[in-house]
Amino acid sequence: MRAARYYDRNDIRIEDIAEPELKPGTVAIEVAWCGICGTDLHEYLEGPIFIPPAGHPHPISGEAAPVVIGHEFSGTIIGLADDVNDLQVGENVVVEPYIIGDDVDTGPGSDYQLSKDMNFIGLGGRGGGLAERIVVERRWVHPIGDIPLDQAALIEPLSVGHHAFVRSGATAGQTAIVGGAGPIGLLTAAVLKAEGLTVYISERSQARKTMATETGVADEVFDPRDGDVAEMVREWTGGRGADVGFECSSVPVVLDTLIDAVRPGGVVVNVSIWGHNPPVDMPQLVLKEIDLRGTIGYANDHPDTIALVQSGRLDLAPFITGRIALDELVSKGYDQLINNNEEHVKIIVNPHA
Ligand SMILES: [Zn+2]
Repeated sequence: MRAARYYDRNDIRIEDIAEPELKPGTVAIEVAWCGICGTDLHEYLEGPIFIPPAGHPHPISGEAAPVVIGHEFSGTIIGLADDVNDLQVGENVVVEPYIIGDDVDTGPGSDYQLSKDMNFIGLGGRGGGLAERIVVERRWVHPIGDIPLDQAALIEPLSVGHHAFVRSGATAGQTAIVGGAGPIGLLTAAVLKAEGLTVYISERSQARKTMATETGVADEVFDPRDGDVAEMVREWTGGRGADVGFECSSVPVVLDTLIDAVRPGGVVVNVSIWGHNPPVDMPQLVLKEIDLRGTIGYANDHPDTIALVQSGRLDLAPFITGRIALDELVSKGYDQLINNNEEHVKIIVNPHA
């Protein structure tokens, strides 16, 4: 079958590889669509980061580069191991793309995203979404009912937003400020809006401001070039400040803006991945008793995220800004996201085309 494999920085190859084999406890899936993520771009330009470099196998998967890439994917079940009885061939699904130790409890309430050596399918081995087919453990397979398969490729990044929402402790009726309207900022805002919050977004890019407004995920978009965003948030909240802030830009000044923009006793959740240590306005954090919370991935967020999309309170269609074939992964996928980044939210790839 055809697959995109990561060899090293700037070296991704479309190749013919062996079909994955069904083993006890697993499910075979024909991939429909796979999204390209900012993490994939970091691996391509600056990696390997999550990807185990050649000669250094990952402790759980036992694999090293070259590995199949792609962790945001949807598909249809084409085979089930004899001991998997609660799914049907022909059912549409998404994969929660974790590589986690066999001995780690992944049941409700467990923080398995924090377990030792956690990695992701499509980065750390075990196949990936940029291949025609994949075999994954039953515990990571989530049925999606009648959600269209193209939109379902966005459920993985949407689950990141859902996990950030859960971590924030925010409730319907509260006010949120999201820093940055890139893919994760927009999808986090979409979850917050669907959960009944008032959502403000801080963003400079015209294309992203337009996307935030047109998709309806923001009640108001503030441009830091028009003035002090924290001041604008206070104006719109009767002087109080937002209840929760979400850092989705990995820009230090945005983090400080959020610490300023939330009310005393408020919560700031960091959703972005940082490549450097930012300065943090600790005096404000102390005097306002701000909770600054980290988040990574998701944990038992997929079922609620899928239900949110099924409820119709959230429309993923407008966030798909490109559709390409596997051969075009670098020429039309990565290249667009590197050079024309602000015009795109998600480019999705059809591994069969
Ligand atoms: Zn991702």
